[in-house]
Amino acid sequence: MKTLPEYEQLAAAAHGHLCAGQILGLRMALYGMRLLGLEDPEGADRKRLITYVEIDRCATDAIPIVTGCRLGKRALKFRDFGKMAATFCDLQEGRAVRLVALDSARQRARELHPELPSKNLQQMAAYREMPDEELFEAQWVQVAIGPEDLPGYKAPAVACARCGESVNFGREVMVGGAPVCRACAGERYYDPLPR
Ligand SMILES: [Zn+2]
Ligand SMILES: [Zn+2]
Repeated sequence: MKTLPEYEQLAAAAHGHLCAGQILGLRMALYGMRLLGLEDPEGADRKRLITYVEIDRCATDAIPIVTGCRLGKRALKFRDFGKMAATFCDLQEGRAVRLVALDSARQRARELHPELPSKNLQQMAAYREMPDEELFEAQWVQVAIGPEDLPGYKAPAVACARCGESVNFGREVMVGGAPVCRACAGERYYDPLPR
């Protein structure tokens, strides 16, 4: 594992700036690795780990810097729950820990560093030095991860019976006995404009 300042540099480069959220995300991932006992998530342990994130904020960008779990590798899963929380799953040992950032950490940051001029600076300083247990609540959990959700899963794509577009990883749904993509099944987030 690298040091926190080293991770901070990498996170700042990837995210575009260094902020309290980045440091919180790094600390969260480091705590997760510590609780799971993983020492080399980007190397030897690289294939054992899947991370679920529950929010799309600054901290989310920092987590893959430590874990190496990336969306495009299917090792980072986004569940849009709007919570500053993440679950780190060790596939080899079959165990997982969910960490939630404590609201009380923000208050603690103000108390620890009233001399600093902004909330962001107060939190950055505090999140570097506060113990894991004051930053996060940890909960051991079970996560059912299907084979179709694992990196490396291979299956032929299925053509949607309505739009004809290819659907991978078993993400089609059966409607009236025919495979249909989730967009055509009613989950479409866009409306096509008339040509
Ligand atoms: Zn940020
Ligand atoms: Zn379709």
